[in-house]
Amino acid sequence: MKDPNCLFCKIIDGVLPSVKVYESANVLAFLDVNPVEKGHVLVVPKRHWPTIADLPVSDSCDIRCAEELMYIMRVVAKAVSSSFADGVNVLQANGGCAGQTVPHLHFHVIPRYGKEPVQPVWRSGAGKYTGEEERDLFAKRISEAVNCIVAEERIVK
Ligand SMILES: [Zn+2]
Repeated sequence: MKDPNCLFCKIIDGVLPSVKVYESANVLAFLDVNPVEKGHVLVVPKRHWPTIADLPVSDSCDIRCAEELMYIMRVVAKAVSSSFADGVNVLQANGGCAGQTVPHLHFHVIPRYGKEPVQPVWRSGAGKYTGEEERDLFAKRISEAVNCIVAEERIVK
């Protein structure tokens, strides 16, 4: 399952070059060509899933690919933070308004150095609710949607 126009599918197929740090039948991890910090790694599935919502939910070889993707993302983050960085961010974006520029699911593993906290991609507190009523409305919407998806996909018992 590949998209011939996808930048990451081309990297996976070797049509475009990359500096690989890990590769298996299901997952590729390589250095970001525009690193936020030295050692910035992208971890991608070898299946063309555009966003996290496209991850498989049924028992198949695709679900094993998804499990391995999560595992390798964890391992790369652990390796970076234990071998040379002072900390690590793991970032994942879905959709253009979230900052996703390549529509092929990927995790950024970004080493951080020094003692000063980085400016996060979000502004903490910028999304203040008008009050408890609005806050509770958002909680209700999210809760209902989560329960609906869980019921449809029947993964969590
Ligand atoms: Zn792709």
